[in-house]
Amino acid sequence: MSDRRPLFAANWKMYKGPTETLEFARRFVEQYAPHEDRDVLICPPSISLVALVEAFGSRADLGVGVQDIHQEVEGAHTGSISAGMAADAGATWGLAGHSERRREFGDTDSMVAHKVVRLLEADLRPIVCVGETLDEREAGDLHAVLARQIAGVLDVVELGQASRLCYAYEPVWAIGTGLTAEPSDAAEAHAIIRAEIAGHTGEGTATAAIILYGGSVKPSNIEKLMAAEGVDGVLVGGASLDPGSFSQICSAA
Ligand code: PEP
Repeated sequence: MSDRRPLFAANWKMYKGPTETLEFARRFVEQYAPHEDRDVLICPPSISLVALVEAFGSRADLGVGVQDIHQEVEGAHTGSISAGMAADAGATWGLAGHSERRREFGDTDSMVAHKVVRLLEADLRPIVCVGETLDEREAGDLHAVLARQIAGVLDVVELGQASRLCYAYEPVWAIGTGLTAEPSDAAEAHAIIRAEIAGHTGEGTATAAIILYGGSVKPSNIEKLMAAEGVDGVLVGGASLDPGSFSQICSAA
């Protein structure tokens, strides 16, 4: 049994403006009672950050994160927001390297690394998303892809800051597809990720690192995924949009 504190994180993607966010929060806080043994976090669209922070109010057990930030501190980058702005809005966590950002917006390993550095500078806890496509998996490249994505970040982050990082293993073929990795697949990938982290930072940081699983997590599969070796929590897309279903997921044993 590890001492790692489970983390249940939601990624709302491009769903829920401020009004829907307030309605979700009202219902979620009714349904989800604080659990002392875990962290819960929601990453809404950035336009809804302030609404969610205010709606969660005194619920210190509920965190708010930003889905993406620009890799620079500020500048002429129309439509983007910075890590500092997200922190100012009340976020305390930030995703970096989600596969949808990598695929749709061309985020490279280097951009992801710089985003992680910006998040750390703004005192936000980064969740670094890594994972292979189906083609990469079928070509036997799982280990190489995860190693490259982890190295991209840990080669740039200062060693003293590496313990602030969380990771999410998100096989691209399981995101939004209804396909879920088997617990044994998740365990294998999480072991690879932990070993790669250890190679860069040493065993202590790797053993303490929170590594989430993401990809079609829902109330019906949460228990078996959480039981998989090395799975410290989940990053949930579709099933986090409904307060009842996310509350069930966050309450998993
Ligand atoms: C995600 O976007 O991070 C994700 C895991 O989505 P879904 O749960 O919908 O597969």
